[in-house]
Amino acid sequence: MKEFLQAITDIIAVFFGDAPERPRVPKPLPPALPPAAPLPPVADPDEPQDAGEVQASDDPVVVAHEGESPRDTDGPEFEDAPLPPPEDNSGGQADPGDKPTQPPVRPGPEYRARYMWCIDAGHGALTAGKRSPVLPDGRQLLEYEFNRDVTRRIFEALDRLGVAYYNVVPETQVGNFLIERVDRANRLSSALPKLFLSVHANAGPAPSLQDFTDDSVRGIETWYFHGSTQGRNLAAVFQRHLIAETGFVNRHLRSKVTGQFYVLRATRMPAILTENGFYNNRFDLEIMLTDAFRQSVADAHVAAILEVDREGL
Ligand SMILES: [Zn+2]
Repeated sequence: MKEFLQAITDIIAVFFGDAPERPRVPKPLPPALPPAAPLPPVADPDEPQDAGEVQASDDPVVVAHEGESPRDTDGPEFEDAPLPPPEDNSGGQADPGDKPTQPPVRPGPEYRARYMWCIDAGHGALTAGKRSPVLPDGRQLLEYEFNRDVTRRIFEALDRLGVAYYNVVPETQVGNFLIERVDRANRLSSALPKLFLSVHANAGPAPSLQDFTDDSVRGIETWYFHGSTQGRNLAAVFQRHLIAETGFVNRHLRSKVTGQFYVLRATRMPAILTENGFYNNRFDLEIMLTDAFRQSVADAHVAAILEVDREGL
């Protein structure tokens, strides 16, 4: 009864404009994060979250080449990952003399944002493993630090260029955070169609974190959701720019029919995952520790983003 009287009093107060507890603010803009749609599938803790966790015993990995029509490779045929011989890659890094003197990344005055880029740095400081062997001089690559250094460079360029993007996980002190990072991208409200880009570094099979992988396991590959033509087209643009910019071994496009990475499977938008060198390959690691390489990787991502914004998928 008391509540009933209070409710009546409240209604009267509203009619007489006497509702002091309600701030008089203009109607807010639509919230950035609308109520969550049905939850994405639950992440399986045994499911690989990036290529470094794909085991040889897993389902076959489908390797596609950037120039092929998606119809050629989305069929049922599978092949093992062909590893180019290491001698294909003289020194592992492009000759700086090959690079154009002008930065290749510069949108013209006609540039208009076409997509909202949801960019994800993959891991956090609390992610277990994901680190290179410690070198004799004490240097070590932590994957989350590499990924975030690259995405920081990408964000700097996108800020300068005025490209629309969303930094999915700005926090550093997180672990795998798989469901949250996907949920944030899915819930983001955007007038532009969304694309998801997750930036990683790779690890090949090795007996322990302190061991290097086989010398032939090196290079860059880009993953997409198997069966997604848009995802595949998106991956092809990134892979092409990454190889051209870095001169790293080209491990082409990859996907899995089952057990796909959660960030590719649960994102409700075309999604790709770039694996930018093997930090437990002794050759790749030395290069990946340099500023120059990280900037090249960032430049390649930015060039790919601008190409997709210009050409569409
Ligand atoms: Zn990773």
